[in-house]
Amino acid sequence: MDNAQPDEAADPATVLIVEDDASLNAALAATLKAAGFRPVTARTAAEGLRWFAHYAPDLVLLDLGLPDRDGLSVIAEIRGRDPAAGGRTPIVVLSARNAEAMKVQALDLGADDYVGKPFGVEELLARLRAGLRHGVQARGSAPVVKTGDLVADLGARRVTKAGEALKLSPKEYDLLVELALNLGRTVSHKDLLRAVWGSESADIQYLRVYVGQLRAKLGEALLVSDPGVGYRLEELK
Ligand code: CA
Repeated sequence: MDNAQPDEAADPATVLIVEDDASLNAALAATLKAAGFRPVTARTAAEGLRWFAHYAPDLVLLDLGLPDRDGLSVIAEIRGRDPAAGGRTPIVVLSARNAEAMKVQALDLGADDYVGKPFGVEELLARLRAGLRHGVQARGSAPVVKTGDLVADLGARRVTKAGEALKLSPKEYDLLVELALNLGRTVSHKDLLRAVWGSESADIQYLRVYVGQLRAKLGEALLVSDPGVGYRLEELK
């Protein structure tokens, strides 16, 4: 089954919601349906993994506090699968557990993003859209972009600099993907905000912060600011 389409007018993307709170589960399903997704719901980890295998969802929205198993182990189980069996399916974690350590654990296990409860609908939808873009990149024939000593394998979601793996946050990675897909060309602030935050009216200050962080990791020569216009990943030998 292949529901993931970058074009939102195409088939709806299937989102598996794994959340034991019945009213929240129902509210999420209604919200996603209204936003044009096809929700599939599960109330336990076991049910979630069963529907995961059955529906091959385009994205998993996963609560960490589940009655039968820790949600973290669900992330590990999905990421342990072969890519052809959905091992790279984007996972957005949804949890009241806001502890920094839990977020880090979820992201280290391969979750794509983290939304803390309570959350705003717009924020949630923006993160789902960003997560779905990851999925399309992971499934498609995403390119390997090389410039200078940087290698960004967008299919494998692996970035190295001078042969060393770079640890990027999900937002830093999203930014790099947009810039890498436009190597040598300036990408406007608006296009970056839309691509990474799901809305071009997102605060440009976020963009500055994340570009600053990404530049510190990539190096000044690679991530170039085009003042008043946008940013560019420089094409270097
Ligand atoms: Ca829960």
